[in-house]
Amino acid sequence: MAAAHHPIADRPVLRFAPSPNGLLHLGHARSALENERMAAALGARLLLRIEDIDRTRCRPEFEAAMIEDLAWLRIAFETPYRRQSEHLADHAAMLARLAAMGLVYPSFESRAELKSLAAARAAESGRPWPADPDGAPLYAGRGRDIPPAEAAARVAAGEPHALRLDMATAMARLAGPLSWTETDATGRPQRVVTAQPERWGDIVLARKELATSYHLAVVTDDALQGVTHVVRGEDLFEATAVHRLLQDLLGLPAPLYRHHGLVLGPDGKKLSKSDQAEGFRGLREAGLTAGDLRRQLGF
Ligand code: GLU
Repeated sequence: MAAAHHPIADRPVLRFAPSPNGLLHLGHARSALENERMAAALGARLLLRIEDIDRTRCRPEFEAAMIEDLAWLRIAFETPYRRQSEHLADHAAMLARLAAMGLVYPSFESRAELKSLAAARAAESGRPWPADPDGAPLYAGRGRDIPPAEAAARVAAGEPHALRLDMATAMARLAGPLSWTETDATGRPQRVVTAQPERWGDIVLARKELATSYHLAVVTDDALQGVTHVVRGEDLFEATAVHRLLQDLLGLPAPLYRHHGLVLGPDGKKLSKSDQAEGFRGLREAGLTAGDLRRQLGF
């Protein structure tokens, strides 16, 4: 018997994945429109994913405002959309697989302790303690050296902790060099980028109070949603190295990537969500139409 034909499964899949921790700004609009343009060029499905795992910063009213602003911009996302916080079990399952591979350990230092540890280790070596591509100090603690039985007992006793990826061991598991492919605006492969996830050190995969992290959740959800092309701002370019590592370790397919330029504020800096002046709301209230905004952003 011939295999059933699934036309949907043959179509590329794109997603726009904002975090509802503020109002949508022009940078989001550009990203959403970049996704729309590539989806049209590829005849792809276009998904919306609400990345709301950080419950301290994300709020339902921001989510509602984002949905409304995207509708005003007339971008047609498939419904229903995925809310990341409703899929924590999926993220936990991926974390369990990494743990079963011996790649995860708990660390118990507070943020303040980690800061002074990094300073102490810099003083010891006479060299600055290395920073990750975002400028944060690499993990300087010694969680990896805690005997597993002791670490497990401290976790079971409810001690605050972060679950970290043992980067050196993970890198040693790779079969070969790690890379990803960047595409142009229409999804055509352009160049291969060598991934260097070790520059991030022992990244946090989960915390006691938050069972997943951005990296783990994004990789899990992209795979479960069958995302074939990730289109997002270039501020996430370096994070892609970590995503490729997690995909490789977990046996997940590698999407193609496009990291587009950011919309800068009048001061030449990246826009922040609190930059209300550059939010949609102010522009809409000032009489700007969706067509005007599309033209202004070059779409
Ligand atoms: N949720 C992330 C953000 O708003 C984007 C994640 C992604 O596109 O991979 O910055």
